Amino acid sequence: MSFIRKNVIGFADTAENGDGGAVTVEAAPAETKEPVSCIAKVRFEGSGPALDYYNDEFYLEPGDRVFVSGKYYGKRGLVESVTTHFRVDKNKYRKVIAKNDLHVTGRFIRANDKMISFDTNLDAERFASLMIPPRDPENDEEEEIVCGDGWSVDLTDFEESECVDCDKIMPALDYCTDGKVLYFSLINGRGTAFIKGKSIYKTEFEFDGKTVSGMFCSCPFNDDCLCKHEIAVLITLRMLLSRPELEDKADFTALDYTLFRDFFTNMSKEITLK
Ligand SMILES: [Zn+2]
Repeated sequence: MSFIRKNVIGFADTAENGDGGAVTVEAAPAETKEPVSCIAKVRFEGSGPALDYYNDEFYLEPGDRVFVSGKYYGKRGLVESVTTHFRVDKNKYRKVIAKNDLHVTGRFIRANDKMISFDTNLDAERFASLMIPPRDPENDEEEEIVCGDGWSVDLTDFEESECVDCDKIMPALDYCTDGKVLYFSLINGRGTAFIKGKSIYKTEFEFDGKTVSGMFCSCPFNDDCLCKHEIAVLITLRMLLSRPELEDKADFTALDYTLFRDFFTNMSKEITLK
């Protein structure tokens, strides 16, 4: 797998300076290699040395990003090495439960702390698969989601709405400035955003160019007002729509700049610069 980045000077130059710059990410077609049983050494950011995990579901190579069962469930790990020479007791080993598919393509333009794209294949479902692990096989509780009414607000002056608690606006702004609105997409009037709080929460809504309606968040907050994540999403949507790049564009995807760099420049797989 190799990624080709174009206009890389613009990308590097704008890293600290703010706006402008475009990066094209092209991925080679996904290779469908048969799974190979192995022990993978996986390292997690902010933790000690790499740990061993059994894998029989995926074809793994050093540089792959994976989710695992056990203590580090929910954290994305980096495969450091792989060996097929092993003899272990399967029941004593934690397992690799998902492998990130980073076959992302598209042209991304820097706008504030977001990378905007009008043609990426990084849809909400794929983004979710990169950030949120499948259910923990060791703690397998069925979910049964039920919803009441979603929130509706006018985007222009949502702060005035009675469903917005003023005390939540500053924390929501902090979410925006701290880069916690990781992903945002608006496709055919349907919006989806992922926000990093205690966990990664998904906010969904509809937007007709003026009113945000049917807004829900997956966080545990249930009160008679919007949660911080939903307010952060409204702030982000208004910021993005004020950008000249989005003039006359109805559909777009926006990825947090730091996360974009993490996905496409800090990978240990080969990156070809052109
Ligand atoms: Zn929420």
